Amino acid sequence: MTPEQRARFEAHCADQNARSIFPLPITCTACEKLIADPGTVCGPQELPAGIVVIPFFGYFCSQACAATFERDYGIHFKRAATGEVSYE
Ligand SMILES: [Zn+2]
Repeated sequence: MTPEQRARFEAHCADQNARSIFPLPITCTACEKLIADPGTVCGPQELPAGIVVIPFFGYFCSQACAATFERDYGIHFKRAATGEVSYE
């Protein structure tokens, strides 16, 4: 292995390591409770019931956490006709 090859190989390994770190565990944006850890399972993982997903923003473990976050930060999430935070 030439120094050049070694450098290339090390860059490759660093890249692979970076990839294996992602996806990151999903935690509640408000209380930081672990919602799902993609690193512990293979393939697509179902999110637990009651999880509130805000596209391009984050996840909340419950409607209560979403509501708390809304209040604390003055953000208004989209809500369903039933009054629940929902982007479905
Ligand atoms: Zn929470």
